[in-house]
Amino acid sequence: MDQETFSALRETVRRFVAERLVPNEDRLEAEDAVPAEIIQEMRELGLFGLSIPEEYGGLGLNMSEEAEVIYELGRTALAYRSVIGTTVGIGSQGIVIDGTEAQKQAWLPRLASGEIMASFALTEPGAGSDAASIKTKAVKDGDVYRLSGTKRFITNAPRAGMFTVMARSEDAPGAAGITAFIVPAGTKGMSFGKNDKKMGQKGTITCDVIFDDAVVPAENIIGGIAGRGFKTAMKVLDRGRIHLSALATGMSQRLLEEQLRYASERQQFGQKIGEFQLVQALIADSRVDGYASKTMVTDVARRFDAGEKVSADVACTKYFTSEAVGRVADRTVQIFGGAGYMAEYKAERFYRDVRLLRIYEGTSQIQQIIIAKALLREAGLSL
Ligand SMILES: Cc1cc2nc3c(=O)[nH]c(=O)nc-3n(C[C@H](O)[C@H](O)[C@H](O)COP(=O)(O)OP(=O)(O)OC[C@H]3O[C@@H](n4cnc5c(N)ncnc54)[C@H](O)[C@@H]3O)c2cc1C
Repeated sequence: MDQETFSALRETVRRFVAERLVPNEDRLEAEDAVPAEIIQEMRELGLFGLSIPEEYGGLGLNMSEEAEVIYELGRTALAYRSVIGTTVGIGSQGIVIDGTEAQKQAWLPRLASGEIMASFALTEPGAGSDAASIKTKAVKDGDVYRLSGTKRFITNAPRAGMFTVMARSEDAPGAAGITAFIVPAGTKGMSFGKNDKKMGQKGTITCDVIFDDAVVPAENIIGGIAGRGFKTAMKVLDRGRIHLSALATGMSQRLLEEQLRYASERQQFGQKIGEFQLVQALIADSRVDGYASKTMVTDVARRFDAGEKVSADVACTKYFTSEAVGRVADRTVQIFGGAGYMAEYKAERFYRDVRLLRIYEGTSQIQQIIIAKALLREAGLSL
C-alpha cells in the first residue's frame, strides 16, 4: 500500500478507536459482547481484510503496516481486536501462506469482507504448549477425511464461518503427522461446548470445538499435501506473535495515558500525586517498557517483511511486550490506589485483560525456550 493511503487508513483507525470504541468500553464490559453495529463498522472499514492480499479483496498490508494498525486497536479494550484477530491472523493466514489457488479463491474474499470469520483450532485438552502432541485424528476414507477429537479454548468458534484445524492424519509421530484442514462451519459431526467464563477480555468468545466423525473433503487440506500442517501452524504463529506484540504495545501506551491523566488530577497531601517522585518513577518505568516494546515491534516487523529469518526475535518481542504490558498495567493499578482495585475504573479491567497476552500464542516460557534454543544451536549445541 502506498504511504499516503496507509497514513489515511491509520488515521481512520485512530479516529474509530477514539470516537467509537473507547466510548463503548463500559457497554462492552457490561454486556459481555462487542455491539453488533461496531462489528458492522469494522467490516465497512475493511478491518477483517487487513492481512489478506488485495487480489482477494483484502488491504494486503505488510507486517509493519499491520503492526501499526493493531497498535492503534491496542489502545482500547482488547476484546474489540479479538473480533477481527482470528480472521486477520491465525485463522486465515494458513490459507494465505500455504493454501492452493482454489482455496484462496474460495475463502479469502469472504474473509476479507468480514462476511465470515475464521477460527484457528490447534490447542486440545491434553496439548497446549506441546502442540505437536495433538490427538485429534483425521482418518482417510476415500476422498474424504473423518475428524474426531476435541479442540480447546478456540477463539470466535461460535461465530466463525470456517476453521483452520490441525489434526493427526499420518502415522508419523509428533509434528510430521499433522495436517491442516479447512473445515467449514456447519460441517456434520462438529459441535461446540459452552462458552468459557474468563478472567478478562469481556466480549471475547472461546469454547471447545468437538469433532465426532466429521467428514472433510481431502481437497480441504491446506496446500493439498498431508503432513505439512505443523509447519503451516508455526509460520502462522510467527506472524501472529508480531501482531500480538503490537497489540500489547498499544495497550501499554493507553495505560501510560491513563496514568498521566490520573496523576495530573488526583491530589494527596495538598499536591497532585504526579508531583511525587515515587509516582514519577512508576510513570517513567512504564514509558521505558512502552518505548522498548514499540522499538522491538518496529524492528522485527521490518525484518520479517524483508524476508529475514526472525522467529527467535519474534519470540523475544512477544515475550518482552506481553510481560511489559503486565508491568505497566500493574503500575497503573498502583497509581490509581484504591480506585485501581475497583471494577468501575479501567485500570482494574485492563489489568485483567492483558494477563492473557503472556499465555496464548505461546506462553512466556515457550518464548524463552525458542530464544535460548536458537542461540544455543547457533553456538553449536545440538538440540
Ligand atoms: C482466551 C484464550 C484464547 C485462546 N484461543 C485459542 C485459539 O483460538 N486457538 C487455539 O488453538 N488455542 C487457543 N488458546 C490456547 C492457548 O494458545 C494455550 O492455552 C497456550 O498455548 C498454553 O497452553 P495450555 O493452556 O495447555 O498450557 P500448558 O501448555 O499446559 O502450560 C502450563 C504451564 O506450563 C508451562 N510449560 C509448558 N511447557 C513447558 C516447557 N517445556 N518448559 C517450561 N514451561 C512449560 C507453560 O508456560 C505454563 O506456564 C487460547 C487460550 C486462551 C486462554
